[in-house]
Amino acid sequence: MSVKTLQELFIHELSDVYSAEKQLTKALPRLARASSNPKLRDAFEVHLEETQGQIDRIDRVVDGADLKLKRIKCAAMEGLVEEGPVRDAALIAGAQKVEHYEIASYGTLCALGRQLGLTDAVKLLQETLAEEKATDKKLTLLAEQEGN
Ligand code: FE
Ligand code: FE
Ligand code: FE
Repeated sequence: MSVKTLQELFIHELSDVYSAEKQLTKALPRLARASSNPKLRDAFEVHLEETQGQIDRIDRVVDGADLKLKRIKCAAMEGLVEEGPVRDAALIAGAQKVEHYEIASYGTLCALGRQLGLTDAVKLLQETLAEEKATDKKLTLLAEQEGN
């Protein structure tokens, strides 16, 4: 793939996940309120703060690499958020779908960024990838406790 195409793909993916993160800053407070388990509520509140930091990181990637994001809406995240479960076990299942979507997106962005030689951007995107993976693990533990 040419560098131009790689860069276009990187910008497209980054714009998409930016929209996804923005949507999550609206959805996570609602998920927290819907949680009856206080640990689950806390997990959503912690991840809301992380999500705000993740949006800041994308802004830093854009500034650092002198890019311009496209105004697109992540339809996948819109759908995931809309499925809107109410019970804790279903909240966890829905939240894990969200984290897996983000893990796939940031994994791709790290690989593209590496190919494009965007070292600083990759560092920032890896920090976010690690947070998404840690959140996914935390949710798995909570789901296992739910079962007992
Ligand atoms: Fe995120
Ligand atoms: Fe998307
Ligand atoms: Fe996340």
